Amino acid sequence: MSAKARTVVTRFAPSPTGYLHLGHAYSALFAWRLARTQGGHFLVRIEDIDQTRCRPEFETAIFEDLAWLGITWEQPVLRQSTRFDQYRTALDRLDAAQLLYPCFCTRKAIQAEIHAAGRAPHLTRHGPDGPVYPGTCRKLDHAERRRRLAANQPHAMRLDVTRALTQLPEPLVWHDTIHGDHQARPEIFGDAILARKDIGTSYHMAVTLDDAEQGVTEVTRAEDLLPATHIHRLLQALLGLPTPIWSHHPMVNDDSGARLAKRTNAPTLRALRDQGLSPEETRAMADRLAATSRPVRL
Ligand code: GLU
Repeated sequence: MSAKARTVVTRFAPSPTGYLHLGHAYSALFAWRLARTQGGHFLVRIEDIDQTRCRPEFETAIFEDLAWLGITWEQPVLRQSTRFDQYRTALDRLDAAQLLYPCFCTRKAIQAEIHAAGRAPHLTRHGPDGPVYPGTCRKLDHAERRRRLAANQPHAMRLDVTRALTQLPEPLVWHDTIHGDHQARPEIFGDAILARKDIGTSYHMAVTLDDAEQGVTEVTRAEDLLPATHIHRLLQALLGLPTPIWSHHPMVNDDSGARLAKRTNAPTLRALRDQGLSPEETRAMADRLAATSRPVRL
């Protein structure tokens, strides 16, 4: 079956770490409208791998806010917190293929190392998430690694991206309906963390596996997450998962051009509702702000 003949499946995947704001509203509307105009399916996923930051009242509020906006979604809703076993299995597969290594570094130690290398700036690479991990634990000798593992030293699991790329028969490509064709360059992140110390998985791992699990054919999300797709495309190839297409839509900025975020007191949908805005007015406001937003520098 050609990609075009597939029934479109989209999703909205919020984390219940706060109330939804206009940026979320635009993202949800974008995915929902796409599914509707194509006669496809629109799904919701609750991204709650970081249980220390998620709260049940925020999850309840997500569904209330979506319904208020006039968005309908299909069941079942997928909760990432029910999927830790599947994330573990995929991680074990990559580990068995020797594509991972344990990283015992603390954030502080990494910063110190990068700072030291700062005196020789050519040694520090910068990626989309800041300075790239210098690969300290990749270079540990086997005996030392075994010793630390045997001593149960807390560790994350990192992808050995150089090694992973050598496993691929040809360069990976991916398509974005807004930003065009890309050759995957996961190396821009360096050796990304696939399993955090505290939760045993990561955003990259969970999102990639769950989009495949939910049969998502078009991944829609804000364009600040476009770089992450380089890693997701690599993980799909390594794990034999289907390749969707992507639409990284504009961010929603406020009228001053500042990015909306939970942290920056962006007005929540419930605050707008309490001020008397109707769902139609709220949808129109999200559309207007997205249409006038400045593109993110990628
Ligand atoms: N959970 C992510 C967020 O709230 C979105 C994940 C994604 O769409 O890939 O920003």
